[in-house]
Amino acid sequence: MTLLAVAVGGRGVVDPDEPVLRADDEALLRGRAAFETVRVYGGKPFKLAEHLERLAGSAEMIGLPAVNRLELEALAQQALEEAAAPESVLRLYWTPTPVALALVSALADHYGELRRRGQRLISLRGARAEEPWLLPGVKSTSYAVNMAAEAEAKRRGADDAVFVDRDGTVLEGPTTNLWWRRDRTLFTPSLDLGILAGVTRATVFELAGAAGYAVEEGEYGLTELLAADEAFTSSSVRELMPVTELDGAPIPRGPAADDLQAALRRAAEG
Ligand code: PLP
Repeated sequence: MTLLAVAVGGRGVVDPDEPVLRADDEALLRGRAAFETVRVYGGKPFKLAEHLERLAGSAEMIGLPAVNRLELEALAQQALEEAAAPESVLRLYWTPTPVALALVSALADHYGELRRRGQRLISLRGARAEEPWLLPGVKSTSYAVNMAAEAEAKRRGADDAVFVDRDGTVLEGPTTNLWWRRDRTLFTPSLDLGILAGVTRATVFELAGAAGYAVEEGEYGLTELLAADEAFTSSSVRELMPVTELDGAPIPRGPAADDLQAALRRAAEG
């Protein structure tokens, strides 16, 4: 991550080399903090209110003090002004102390290339977050498992992973939601599976109808994804990204990923 600007609660913009957390903040000691990653288009964070809403829900589930949205919004603004990078990534953190942090970093430059080429995925066993203490739908900084899955996918020559339950039910990627298409219907795993309620996933629901697609959510096996007419992932930073291979088997390219990516850009930049 190329860090461009940092703003901290109670201090405002600080030098990115400055320490910002106490050594006993459980964000560091136990990965007990909530965070959000927001794509910035033309200097404006896209769907900031939705990200703040999810951050507040994550903090509540983790048992953190209530999120101060106004403070985070102000810090986001300050960090974005300091960074002066219209196309960038905004990260918001809320720790147990509590400390509010806004980080602005440069957008990785390989996403356009990956979108043209399409992603190769491998399926890896993941766990359904079926109980409240497994933190369903929570975006916490305990992401070591997600990062390890991504690293394992790369070690096996793929671009990313898709988590599947013990019985082969498709869940989500380490940092993405999954989608696939049969004819004019898009399928995506249900939030009842304990996956993250992606802000981009919700945006695809909003955009699909006008693009001519119906949407269905439910419990689906990996075989359904493998038999799809096309597949793609969604996330704030990577946006919509076609999937061209799953566990070594080819998945065809199709129009939905490109149509919806164009619609997402229009919504974000319009
Ligand atoms: N699922 C997981 C586990 C994630 O970490 C993310 C984002 O980082 C997503 C899905 C996609 O969510 P969003 O569209 O809000 O970026």
